[in-house]
Amino acid sequence: MGVTLETPLDELDFLPPNRARLLERFGLPTVGALLLHFPRRYEDRNQFDRFPNDTTDQPVCVCGMVKKTSIRRIRGWQKMFDVLIEEDGASAFGGRLVCRWFNSHWVEKMIVQGHRLVVYGKPKRSGGNVIIAHPEFEVIEDDAEESIHLRRIVPIHAATEGISPRVLRRIVWDVLEQLQDDTVEQLVPEKLDATPRAWALREMHFPASMESLAKARRHLVLEEFLAMQLAVSAKRTELKAERGEPHCGPGEWMRRLHDSLPFPLTKAQQRSIAEIRDDLASSRPMNRLLHGDVGSGKTLVAMSAMLLCIEAGFQAALMAPTQILAEQHYLTFRRLLDPLGVRVALRTGARREYGGEMPLFDPSPRTDSAPGEPHILVGTHALLYEGAGFTRLGLAVIDEQHKFGVVQRARLREQGSAPDVLVMTATPLPRTLTMTIYGDLDVSTLDEMPAGRGKIITGVRAPSKLPEAAKFIREQLDAGRQCYIVYPLIEESEKLEAKAATAEFAKWSELLAPLKCELIHGRVPPEEKDAIMTRFRSGETKALIATTVIEVGVDVPNANVMLIENAERFGLAQIHQLRGRIGRGEHKSYCILITGTDEEEAMEKLRVLEKTNDGFEIAEADLRLRGAGDLLGTAQSGLPPLRLGDLFRDADLMKLARNHAYLIFEQDPKLERPGHAGCRVLLNETRRTILAQVS
Ligand code: ADP
Ligand code: MG
Repeated sequence: MGVTLETPLDELDFLPPNRARLLERFGLPTVGALLLHFPRRYEDRNQFDRFPNDTTDQPVCVCGMVKKTSIRRIRGWQKMFDVLIEEDGASAFGGRLVCRWFNSHWVEKMIVQGHRLVVYGKPKRSGGNVIIAHPEFEVIEDDAEESIHLRRIVPIHAATEGISPRVLRRIVWDVLEQLQDDTVEQLVPEKLDATPRAWALREMHFPASMESLAKARRHLVLEEFLAMQLAVSAKRTELKAERGEPHCGPGEWMRRLHDSLPFPLTKAQQRSIAEIRDDLASSRPMNRLLHGDVGSGKTLVAMSAMLLCIEAGFQAALMAPTQILAEQHYLTFRRLLDPLGVRVALRTGARREYGGEMPLFDPSPRTDSAPGEPHILVGTHALLYEGAGFTRLGLAVIDEQHKFGVVQRARLREQGSAPDVLVMTATPLPRTLTMTIYGDLDVSTLDEMPAGRGKIITGVRAPSKLPEAAKFIREQLDAGRQCYIVYPLIEESEKLEAKAATAEFAKWSELLAPLKCELIHGRVPPEEKDAIMTRFRSGETKALIATTVIEVGVDVPNANVMLIENAERFGLAQIHQLRGRIGRGEHKSYCILITGTDEEEAMEKLRVLEKTNDGFEIAEADLRLRGAGDLLGTAQSGLPPLRLGDLFRDADLMKLARNHAYLIFEQDPKLERPGHAGCRVLLNETRRTILAQVS
């Protein structure tokens, strides 16, 4: 009987049933699943590292003989297990290493004198010894298994309880022995990468060389990316086939708005508005992303689009991720649109308010909405859930999409008759991510800042410099400016050992007395928040002590200093967002990043922010530091997590996969051609995963 990828593990005669059960519980029920459980790293056991005689930055992989073991009791209950190993064929000098475990009963039972060990870990010099604490290790048994565990590039798989990497390696080996390669279907089209899939799967687990491993990996990363991009393209094709109706007036109101502004629109704003206008005028529903760094002026673009929409007799909605932002948008909208007689209403979980109930002139004789009904609704997510009662929703604008899931976007679409959707984000995502997360959207980019912006100067400082910083802030406030002081305290995690904003508030009130300071954080009730923000906007309050609730969108041009404490706790992109709150007026602005410790390491990471103000550059640096994992989380992207590929390292492959997926859907939208059978499999697989995640 031949083994195929579909064969359940419990049907393999060489695998004991209890092991099959453990693997199934580990999420690996079939041969196919097992083979997609790729090694997390490899050890080249053809050529071990030499025994280190000092501390190293990188882990080493060495092999040696156990000379001595000892167990010592320290501090009563604690036990320390030392294993002295000696390099094979080493001279009397060097070539010795101590592996040390604390309270690891099971290790004590596994290692005895005379064993050969492969050890992997970071050595530290301590006194006369070189020690690796809690290394990964494997006992080399001198059985016939050498060809699996030794003298080759050996895979180290993530293990599970009851199954060690060594046992798992053996199982994978045995499975591959029996796998019938001709039953392994080719999934990636030949044109994209002709490497045989079965070969690639084999090489991933037991590579013949680093070169062939790279080749195998390339094929499987392409497979993974293609699966993702096929799902994105399918979605895109689906959206393009939807029918709606045009939601675009002649543009008279928009012209009046633009005429009322004290500044001209930037070229980028004009271009984006033109792109959106074309979409609104088309009967195909718009699905567009408006992408632009903080302060690039997205709100005005959105407002222009909304005017075009309501002029055609429809309603428009703007959704913000937080209460504060919704209220701020509401105020901006009323300030600019009341004079035009546009009725704007606020609707959030906590508050409802109608404005402009007595328009100066009947705003739209062609409107179908009842008189007095708002033209524009501004709110939070609540708009989605409590059936906001749109009578004729023509355009939904979603602000700061990175906090807004794909699911919500879909829900919105369900509410009306296929409204146009404009998503705005200030998160300067690297291009690979954009084409993944937002791959189904058209994109307009605001790549130009309005003229006359004050510069932001950023400085990273040790905590010992805090008094100097306070003195500097005081000077700025005395000169009539305002400031933000930010703490890395997140609403839900009060236990975070960050300095409590409340305690710091007392400190700053004293430091800056008699100037007025106020405290704002996630737990302040909405009405109070509103009042605090109003006092800050009016200039009555000079310093706002805040958690990241001020993260996005808050707009007070007179505030020109931001001090962030424990800055290393934030991601770079997040700090970039935060500092976008300043540099909004004509004044020179200052962002002071105070680290939690005096250590250079914490400061080093933040230096990128001193060097550049370019959001995209920062996003790339951030991605490099943090990895793309959390950015690709389901809630945000609606896409499965990556198994193998790396959005940063493999950016070129993502581009390749994207172009290919587009092309395939253009030529063969139903994937019916024989050459696309593999793509159909990949697409269905991705859809299944997405469904499983959502439910
Ligand atoms: P963001 O893209 O971060 O949402 P906003 O839309 O909040 O940016 O705009 C930031 C500030 O810039 C606002 O005060 C807005 O009035 C102002 N602004 C927008 N467009 C221009 C422009 N073309 N010229 C000058 N200032 C502008
Ligand atoms: Mg904004």
